[in-house]
Amino acid sequence: MRSTNISRKDFIRNSALATLGLGITPSLLTDAKAATSPETAVAGKKQLKLKNVRLETGFEYEGEEVIATRTGLFCVEIDNGKITAILPNDPKANATDAKGFLMLPAFKDMHIHLDKTGYGSPWKAARRKQGGVKGMIALEQQILPEMLKTSTDHAEKLVELLQSCGSSFARSHVNIEPTSKLDSLKNLQKALENKKDSFGAELVAFPQHGLYYTDSTSLMKEAAKMDIDFIGGVDPYSLDGEIAKPMDFIVKLALDNNKGIDIHLHESGESGLKTVEYLIDRVNENPVLKGKTFLSHCFVLGKLEKQKQEEIADKLAQAQIGIMSTIPFGGLIMPIPTLYKYGVTVGTGNDSIIDHWNTWGLGSVLQKANLMAQLYGYSTEFLLSRSLKLATYNVLPLDDKGQQQWPKTGDAADVVLIDASCSAEAVSRISPVRSLIHQGKIVF
Ligand SMILES: [Zn+2]
Repeated sequence: MRSTNISRKDFIRNSALATLGLGITPSLLTDAKAATSPETAVAGKKQLKLKNVRLETGFEYEGEEVIATRTGLFCVEIDNGKITAILPNDPKANATDAKGFLMLPAFKDMHIHLDKTGYGSPWKAARRKQGGVKGMIALEQQILPEMLKTSTDHAEKLVELLQSCGSSFARSHVNIEPTSKLDSLKNLQKALENKKDSFGAELVAFPQHGLYYTDSTSLMKEAAKMDIDFIGGVDPYSLDGEIAKPMDFIVKLALDNNKGIDIHLHESGESGLKTVEYLIDRVNENPVLKGKTFLSHCFVLGKLEKQKQEEIADKLAQAQIGIMSTIPFGGLIMPIPTLYKYGVTVGTGNDSIIDHWNTWGLGSVLQKANLMAQLYGYSTEFLLSRSLKLATYNVLPLDDKGQQQWPKTGDAADVVLIDASCSAEAVSRISPVRSLIHQGKIVF
């Protein structure tokens, strides 16, 4: 089995984060020698005791306005992957020193393609795109056979990048199409098996080349039996020429195999809206799909009139369909505040790190929370602190009233230690990740 230790050199060589000062600092929880192999620090140990852990305890107000976040130092005990005690700090305790760093829920990258990445290979910008998604499919048909030869190793490197940026979990889409067949899935499953003690993941079987445009239906049926979690899809109208047939296939496959749904929807015109409405109707007819159905990107929401945005956001919330957004900016601004207003589940992810689609993903979902805060003007202590939920997939240390709600004893010991005084600072400054603990084990 490949070592799960993180090579610091690999980070510096490969990471686009170097320029930002993100992610390249070895864990400060361990001594210098252990820093290159953090897991040895806790090898064979199920228990971990931390001292000098900074936790948020409340807001400070001036009148109605939150003007600061109160924190304190604590001892945190972890046993068997769970937080078992949160105690007053004891600087003299025989415990691992968290050095006053802020403990937050570990981050989750909710939309990424771990199976096809150029991360780990020499720098290469994306080529000029021709022919839209169909042009990209033709390109993938050429390059995937070569990429598959190294995809297990590249996926492992990408997981290490995500860990260095504070994520211990990802929802990864994985190509299922006639060129890769089931190999992209098998290669990724190998990588995740090698990383299973330090990283969690759920998989979306993704017919990237269209369900019918390149016939992927029988492969999708096979993939649905292969330990995946979601049935994926992509632009039914523009790739497959109609909405109902591919959408019905996806819904039936999910129902027959007791899976969720997560569909890439880039289409922004009438067909995009019809696809959203079609999915809402199918989920309402099949309530078992509520809470486990998602639309990724869903750019059409950014193109609707305000009133229509509100109507669709309400319907998405009622059907418990979530939106996974990479927080695009420029020509298209997604109505994320409207989605939150109606209670739609919103997640984010890096999507592409370095690949033939683009090279923008830094690996940090904290950076996505920062981008959201900038984009929507969330500049105050309160709004910045709320923005953290984009990185943690909706877990926040304090509720809106400033009551502490995380961590509680019994919570999963999936935590990140950040060099920041509070969530608001962490989001605003994209503060450095100092350590990551997954299921009670220091993994970065
Ligand atoms: Zn994607």
